[in-house]
Amino acid sequence: MSMIPLVDLAAQHAAVAQEVASGWQEVLAQTAFVGGPAVAAFEREYAAFTGTPHCAAVANGTDAIEIALRALGVGHGDECILPANTFIATAEAVCRIGATPVLADCADDDTYLIDTAAVEAAVTRRTRAIIPVHLYGQAAPVERLLQLADRIGAWIVEDAAQAQGARRNGHGAGSLGHAAATSFYPGKNLGAYGDAGAVMTGSDDVAERVRLIRDHGSPRKYQHELIGVNSRMDTLQAVVLSAKLRRLAAWNAARREAAARYDTALAGLDDVIRPRTLAGNEHVWHLYVIRVPDRDRVLRELTAVGIGAGIHYPAPVHRTPAFASLGQADLTYPVAERTASELLSLPLFAEITAEQQDRVVAALTSALRRRTGRRVPAEVTTGP
Ligand SMILES: *Cc1c(COP(=O)(O)O)cnc(C)c1O
Repeated sequence: MSMIPLVDLAAQHAAVAQEVASGWQEVLAQTAFVGGPAVAAFEREYAAFTGTPHCAAVANGTDAIEIALRALGVGHGDECILPANTFIATAEAVCRIGATPVLADCADDDTYLIDTAAVEAAVTRRTRAIIPVHLYGQAAPVERLLQLADRIGAWIVEDAAQAQGARRNGHGAGSLGHAAATSFYPGKNLGAYGDAGAVMTGSDDVAERVRLIRDHGSPRKYQHELIGVNSRMDTLQAVVLSAKLRRLAAWNAARREAAARYDTALAGLDDVIRPRTLAGNEHVWHLYVIRVPDRDRVLRELTAVGIGAGIHYPAPVHRTPAFASLGQADLTYPVAERTASELLSLPLFAEITAEQQDRVVAALTSALRRRTGRRVPAEVTTGP
């Protein structure tokens, strides 16, 4: 039987192959490979898509977080609060500007989103930014964080790398904070054919500073107003992203349908904790993450039958060797710690078929049954 991948990039490429090929031909003919009109066009399109006044393209998502923080004036000696359960880049970006990451636990409500109370408890006099991560495809609850930020004089910088097209109370992820960063890494909901990222903001000043920082501090050639970096978007990537952006809303809708199918199919499995969507959120299901007992064995059994399940993420930030100094020996972030050993991401992409999902559910059901020896209701064991 054929493999079911975690993400099917080949299926996605098929939908844009012709458009990308002709767009790339044009770029090759013009031999203009960095920035240019195609990048500017994508910036306008993505700003409109997220409902943010400004979008500035950069080289990747990690740079986007770093540059957004720098543009807001966050730097050495400052503290940035971020969730303990995120992709490592959120913490790395903070370190790269000389600031200190301070972790906050995630909420104990099956959303895995940052816990507002934990953020409040982590605030010190040095807190200059809070970085809510819109994890797995839904926006973090930012309302109280925005109030808190106002009160203490800090910025909200959204990590929107996993939430392209997500909305909270009608507002697009990327438009909820003072600035936002996103990544167009190939596996994201909107993925380039290499690395790319972007910063969004409603502030003209911040946008201008982002544009300076990303290109050697340079408003025009050989004029350097500050010490910047080289973090520009390739023109070839902008062509791909514009082509895919036109389809993103439909792809996200297909992901939502697929998530709903998993929800229904998994409802009868007592051992499975399904992901919860927060009220007010339009989820774009970057990942469909459940929790199961005996996770490592279940993952091995799914892998053995050709099902590309994954773990996001195997260890909270402070449990990685790189950031071990951020956690104490006791359970500093109990929810992130407890859930990390149970998380399991099931294959989910816009083109996944009901038959493929049936196979995933059937394989998961038998893996769980082998553990418990319990009978699982027959109606969920659909598929071959
Ligand atoms: C992918 C991702 C990033 C980093 O993006 P890159 O483009 O790989 O640098 C940052 N934060 C989160 C939550 C991500 O998923």
